[in-house]
Amino acid sequence: MTSTATPYADPAALAAVEEARAALVADLGRDAQDVGDHLGHLVEADGVVTHLFACTRKGYVGWRWSVTVAHVEGGPVTIDELVLIPGDEAIVAPAWVPYRERIKPGDLGPGDLLPVGDDDARLVPTYSFGDDPLDADAKAQVRQVAQDLGLGRARTLSPEGYDLAAERWYDGIGGPQAPIAQSAPHHCHSCGFLVRIAGHLAGSFGVCANGDANDDGRVVSMDHGCGAHSEVRLSKKQETQPIPDHVIDTITDELDAL
Ligand code: SF4
Repeated sequence: MTSTATPYADPAALAAVEEARAALVADLGRDAQDVGDHLGHLVEADGVVTHLFACTRKGYVGWRWSVTVAHVEGGPVTIDELVLIPGDEAIVAPAWVPYRERIKPGDLGPGDLLPVGDDDARLVPTYSFGDDPLDADAKAQVRQVAQDLGLGRARTLSPEGYDLAAERWYDGIGGPQAPIAQSAPHHCHSCGFLVRIAGHLAGSFGVCANGDANDDGRVVSMDHGCGAHSEVRLSKKQETQPIPDHVIDTITDELDAL
């Protein structure tokens, strides 16, 4: 059971600033000059106090030496722990992010492998298992059986997988917010270069197959668009004007030169 009562601030432990400093200096040896002023204390528990000292070591701005002492009635003050800890203004490394979460599209190089976990929410088994939860072994067996029987893909996109892909594509450079789509005269849904796709996303996306367009080979949303739309026509003003015939000057020597 944990107590929420304020811990007892033992006077002997509170007063043991020089004992704490002496223990720190002895522990640091040649680096003892890195110990600065006493910055204060924290009462950790009944009879347990941590004294904080400034750290003057180069490169450790904002760090503090922490010396925890303890005292029980009738006994001496003892040193429990010496440690260097970062203060609020200390420069510390950013929080650790697991490797799997740091990978971004485009990070994968030739030969790199990026296994997808058995429990990846973006995928579901190709055929249903009802409500029975499967452990990792069972899932591996199912994959093996699917491969042995030639069923094709052991897993396919889950509803979540579809949603994530659609969101990513729609918000990306193949979506309606892309600058090229914002000033496009027509949308992809009416473009002859749009290749229709099958499946759940068929109504919202297709693939651009115009080799002259920026989006050639890319998934584009139906309301994306660009100036290379198949039905784009130039106005009379924008059309290239034919070059007029040469005018021959019959007054000067130009005619003689012919
Ligand atoms: S050419 Fe332009 S409008 Fe046509 S499908 Fe490609 S991106 Fe869409």
